[in-house]
Parts: sequence; structure tokens; C-alpha cells
Amino acid sequence: MFKKMPVIAIEEHFWDHELAAESKGSEGVRSPEHLKRLYDLSELRLKEMDEAGIDIQVLSHGAPSTQKLDASIAVDLTQRVNDRLAAAIARHPTRFAGFAALPTANPEAAARELERCVKDLGFVGAMICGLTNGMFHDDERFWCIYERAEALGVPIYFHPSFPDAGVSSVYYDKYAKEFPQVVRAAWGYTVETATQAVRLILSRVFEKHPGLNVVLGHMGETLPYQLWRIDQALKRPGHDVMHFRDHFTRNFYITCSGHFSTTALVCAMMEMSMDHIMFSVDYPFVANKPAIDWLETLQLSHTDMQKFLNGNARKLLKI
Ligand code: MN
Repeated sequence: MFKKMPVIAIEEHFWDHELAAESKGSEGVRSPEHLKRLYDLSELRLKEMDEAGIDIQVLSHGAPSTQKLDASIAVDLTQRVNDRLAAAIARHPTRFAGFAALPTANPEAAARELERCVKDLGFVGAMICGLTNGMFHDDERFWCIYERAEALGVPIYFHPSFPDAGVSSVYYDKYAKEFPQVVRAAWGYTVETATQAVRLILSRVFEKHPGLNVVLGHMGETLPYQLWRIDQALKRPGHDVMHFRDHFTRNFYITCSGHFSTTALVCAMMEMSMDHIMFSVDYPFVANKPAIDWLETLQLSHTDMQKFLNGNARKLLKI
């Protein structure tokens, strides 16, 4: 059924040579197969999109992107990364769209870069990967970015990165050698990114900026499953008024990047509605084919499938 529908995948990564060279430690190390695909923004990528039936990739720089750059170099380097991404999109404008990288070490400059990327380069939003040099993004110093995103009508996608070193040593070190993914996709990414989202809501940034839209990958980083309990617990005696569920279901969108579970999708549909869930793969860390194979098994209505594969993305990202 879905094969007649356009497919937009919205958490699909590339790497920029100059930025990747700044990535220290194990985050900068990837397998040759991943590297080949991260650096390709033409033949191989398009061939693998065609084979799977993916019409459009919304491209974003892979983690940690620009979030671990020192403020002294972040602004100029991020502009060059965004300019090079814009040039790659311009070579295949019907197949690619882009999320801006932001030099969050300098929040005011990040807000200006977001505006430049949307207005001058045609980008459809921005992606922030992990913490900015150890800092969560609910801090008010980052709110100028959200004010700009709200004014421009584009979302901010919060993507994981390597967990904070102190957290990692207490939570994961014992098992990290035997099971390296426990720090990453198996658990560490989700803990940090879900915490990022919870803190954003608690900061009341959505009360000040009710038009701010946020995207989470990986089927919402466990939050749809936890939503009832978080919302109920925050209403217990002794708490200030906090409408957690309202903010999560109005201001947040999720994607199924790297998480192709039908039971998890059904949970998210029941908590958030199909209007807030979008397809994505997480290429090249996850291959296109398993994602498409999963789509074939989904028993969704035509309307819901359309929203999932392209309608919601078109509306939110104005593609
Ligand atoms: Mn990803």
C-alpha cells in the first residue's frame, strides 16, 4: 500500500570532513562502511535511497555535530559546514533537504545562524546533538534560539550524542567494554536525550514560546511510554502547576529513527496521535532496508500511513 506514497526520511546523517576532524575520542571513530556513506552526498546515497524507495532525505550532521566545539571556533566552522550542506542539497534539490548545525557554544550566534540557514539556504529546521559542552539546553542562555525557531516556524531536533563523561563513568563504565552500545543506542543516548526533553518542559520554555516545535528521534526516546507516569507524578501534592502531557503532545514530534517496533509505534500513536509521528531511518547507522521491510508489515489506514511517511513532515518542515 505505502509503495505508491512518497517517503520522506528525516533523521539521515552525513559528515563534513572539517568538522569531523574536530571530533575527539571514540565519537570520531566509525567503521569504514559508515564512513563511506557519511561522506557521500550523491551516488551511493541516492542509489541506496532508490533501492529502498526513499524519495527525500532530510540531512543532518551526525553526532556530536557542533555541540562540542569551543565557542572560539564554533561560529565560523558551523557556517562553513552549513554552506557545504546547502551546496550538496542544491545539486539534488528534489532528493535532499537540510537541518542546520548550530554553534550552540555561542547561543546568540546560533540564533543568527538558524535564521541565515532558513532564510538564505532554505533549511527546514536545525538539529542539536547531545549537550553543549556539558550543558543541557533548557538553560535560559539558549532560549534566544527557541525564540528565533518559533518566529521562523521551524523545529529543533534534539538528537543524542555520547553521554556526559561523569554520567558515563557512574552509569555505564562497568559494562561499556563488553557491551559498548550500552553507552550509545542501547541505553545511554536515550537516557540523556529523554532527560533533555523533560528538562525543556520543566523549564517552562513552551509557556513562553508556545509555537516552538521540538522533534525527538528513536520513537520519542521512551517518553511516550512514560508519559502517563511523568504527568501524574508531577501533579502530586507539593508541585507547582505543570501540564507536562499538554506540552509533550502539542509541542513535540517524534520519529521512528532506528526503532522499528510496531508495539512501540502503537503506544506512541495512542499517547501522541498519528499527527505527531514521522518516518525516518537513521542512515547510515541503520540501513534503509530494515526500515522499509518494517513498513510493509504495518497495518495502518491509508490516512495514517500518509501522515507517517510524508504528510506530517511536509506540514512541520514545509517541504
Ligand atoms: Mn541519528
